[in-house]
Amino acid sequence: MTLHIETPVFVADPDYSRSALPILLKMDAFQPSGSFKLRGLGLRCERDFAAGIRRFICASGGNAGFAAAYAARELGASMSIVVPESTSPEARDAIRRLGARLDVAGNSFDDAHAHARMLARGDGDASLLHPFDDPVLWEGHATLIDEVVARGHDFDCVILGVGGGGLMAGVAEGLDRHGLAHIPIIAVETFGADSLALSIEAGHVQTLPAITSIATSLGARAVAEHAFELTTKRPIIPLRVTDRDAVKACLRFADAFRVLVEPACGAALAALDVHPDIFRPFKRPLVEICGGIGVSLDRLTNWRIGP
Ligand SMILES: *Cc1c(COP(=O)(O)O)cnc(C)c1O
Repeated sequence: MTLHIETPVFVADPDYSRSALPILLKMDAFQPSGSFKLRGLGLRCERDFAAGIRRFICASGGNAGFAAAYAARELGASMSIVVPESTSPEARDAIRRLGARLDVAGNSFDDAHAHARMLARGDGDASLLHPFDDPVLWEGHATLIDEVVARGHDFDCVILGVGGGGLMAGVAEGLDRHGLAHIPIIAVETFGADSLALSIEAGHVQTLPAITSIATSLGARAVAEHAFELTTKRPIIPLRVTDRDAVKACLRFADAFRVLVEPACGAALAALDVHPDIFRPFKRPLVEICGGIGVSLDRLTNWRIGP
């Protein structure tokens, strides 16, 4: 038994994007937590729970908190979530409705995490969860590749959004498990949340002064050291897209598949339109439809007509 579910793989026809390729879509937006985050956080919570832990603390921009709160509710444990001011009222409510305690601290995930660390220091029996920098999380996220491989799908690159790099580390681990380490990962960020691309250009981990993208789920000011190191050891291609392109991709995805996803996910889809040349060597990309609860019809429409 796992807390996450197996999600379907949809196929988009070649005319869906400017890449002119058939695209496999791993529909993790259908997780009960609305995003892939439950794969890793669910595994981590289950393991800790089996070891006797009954209280958890997790800082999050929204989706990790929602997944952690869901995991705690399913397990019958207590969960404290710390979000930054930038987390929407809707996401905050959704987390509270799952029975988690919610604190708001600071302007970015990094501030919220510092607060969560402080809470954890004051509660020696609680487990402090990290939303992207934890090997158990990567092990859990890797199951998305297990599922795609088990269903017999062929793919020759994986496109995903990068925040702190936990999803990327999990996909890398999943590829390794199946002898697919040679398959390139296309690591997409929005301008203003491009901590991985900047780090690759600088040759070491860079910390953004602030997150200026609407794709808040990609908004870790710095990626995990492990995520950066992966870029020095395996084929990882960093790409940037604009917020506008990410929102456009969300709208088109909603029309085509009748599913709402966050700009963090739209960014991965947008890469196929904005950088079609990058995909010339490939025949069958797999896109992680990471999902996200930080989206609604209203928000998507406002983002479209906004600046
Ligand atoms: C967390 C998240 C990401 C980024 O994942 P990282 O592990 O932080 O790189 C992308 N999209 C969505 C919807 C997320 O919830």
